[in-house]
Amino acid sequence: MKRNLAILGSTGSIGTQALEVVAANPDIFEIEVLTAQNNADLLIEQAIRFRPNVVVISNETLYDKVFSALDPLDIKVYTGEKSLSSVVQMESINMVLTALVGYAGLIPTIAAIKAGKHIALANKETLVVAGELVTGLAAKNRVDILPVDSEHSAIFQCLVGEFHNPIEKIILTASGGPFLGKDREFLKNVTKLQALKHPNWSMGAKITIDSASLMNKGLEVIEAKWLFGLTPDQIEVVVHPQSIIHSMVQFEDGSIKAQMGLPDMRVPIQFALSYPARLKSDFPRFDFSKYPSLTFQQPDLQTFRNLGFAFEALNQGGNMACIVNAANEIAVASFLRDEIGFLEMSDLIEDCMQRVSFVKTPTLEDYIKTDEETRRRALEFSF
Ligand code: NDP
Ligand code: MG
Repeated sequence: MKRNLAILGSTGSIGTQALEVVAANPDIFEIEVLTAQNNADLLIEQAIRFRPNVVVISNETLYDKVFSALDPLDIKVYTGEKSLSSVVQMESINMVLTALVGYAGLIPTIAAIKAGKHIALANKETLVVAGELVTGLAAKNRVDILPVDSEHSAIFQCLVGEFHNPIEKIILTASGGPFLGKDREFLKNVTKLQALKHPNWSMGAKITIDSASLMNKGLEVIEAKWLFGLTPDQIEVVVHPQSIIHSMVQFEDGSIKAQMGLPDMRVPIQFALSYPARLKSDFPRFDFSKYPSLTFQQPDLQTFRNLGFAFEALNQGGNMACIVNAANEIAVASFLRDEIGFLEMSDLIEDCMQRVSFVKTPTLEDYIKTDEETRRRALEFSF
C-alpha cells in the first residue's frame, strides 16, 4: 500500500505533523510534492529531507532562494498563482493533503479532484465555501474526501462499518476555547495574545482565533453537513472542555458512538493518510485515571455569535457560507493586526451576510465573485 503524497501547506501546523507521520512510516508514504507560502527556509529543509519531485513556493519573491537551494538536488521548483493547481495533477500522486489555510485551498482542491486524486482534507474552508460543488465533483470523479479535522475524523471513525445505517444526528464537540464562560463585557477588550492561547491544541494562528470565537465550530458544522450529507437539525454542538471525546454519532436506535483519545492531530492525520488501515504509532496514550471527569455543556450562542451565523448560513444555503467564510478571513486578519476588537469580528461578518449579493444556486464563478465582493465590503466596513 505505497501512497504518494502531495502536501499543500507542508510548513504549517498540520503539514509538519503530517511529515512526522510520513517519517515514521517510510515504507508506506512517499513525498512527491511539498508547498509553502513564505517559509522558504523550512520548505528547503523539508525538501532536503523528504526528497520530493516538486516544491511550490507561492511567494514569488522567494523563488530564486528556493531554486538555488534545490536545483542541484534535481528537485523542481515552481511559483505563481496556477502552480498549486497544476502540480496536484501530477501522474505520480495518489493523494493530496490540503493543509493550507482559507479560501486559497479551494481551486487547488478542485483541480486535484478533477485529476482523480484522493483528498485528505484539512482545509475545511474549501467545504465551507463550496461544499455542494466540491462533494459533487468528488462523487463524479470517484475520489474519497477523507477528513483530517479531528471532529470529522471522529465521526468518520464511528461510521466505519456503519455506512448503510442512517445517522439520526451527530454531536460535534467543542473545547470552548480560551474564553469559555466569559461574557461580552470581558471579550470587548481581549487581546490577540489572549486569543492565541488555546487550552488544548497548538495550531496555526487563523484556526486558533476561529476557535476562540467559536467560528471554527461554525465552519465545522458546515463542513460536517457536506462530508456526511446531513441537514442542519441533525448537527448538534456540545462544549466539552477536556477535548477527549472528539465527536459522536447517534444512530436511529438511539445508540451513540464516540471516538476518544488525547488531543493529538497526528492521529486523525495518520488515519486519513492510511485509511482504511490503522498504522501502529508511538503517540502518547490516554490514561483514564488522569481524567476523572469529562464534562459537557451547551454553547453560549448569545456571547459567541459566530456559531449562530454558521447555522443561519446553512439554513439559507446558496453562497451564504462563502460570504461568512470570506468575511471571517478578513475579520481574523484585521484582529491579528490589532485593527478591530474581538467582538467586532462578529459585527463585520453579520454586516457582510446582510449586504453581499445572495445567490441561490451558485456556480464556481459565483463563488469566486462572492469571495471578492465580500472581501471588498469587509475591508470598507467601519465601526
Ligand atoms: P498554518 O497557518 O499553521 O499553516 C498553513 C500552511 O499553508 C503553511 O504551510 C503556509 O505556508 C501555507 N499557506 C498559507 N496561506 C497560503 C496561501 N494563501 N497560499 C499557499 N499556501 C498558503 O495552518 P494550520 O496547519 O493550522 O491549518 C491548515 C488548515 O487545516 C486550515 O484550513 C485549518 O482550519 C485546518 N485545520 C488545522 C488544524 C490544526 O490543528 N492546525 C486542525 C483542524 C483543521 P507558510 O508556512 O510559508 O506561511
Ligand atoms: Mg476541528
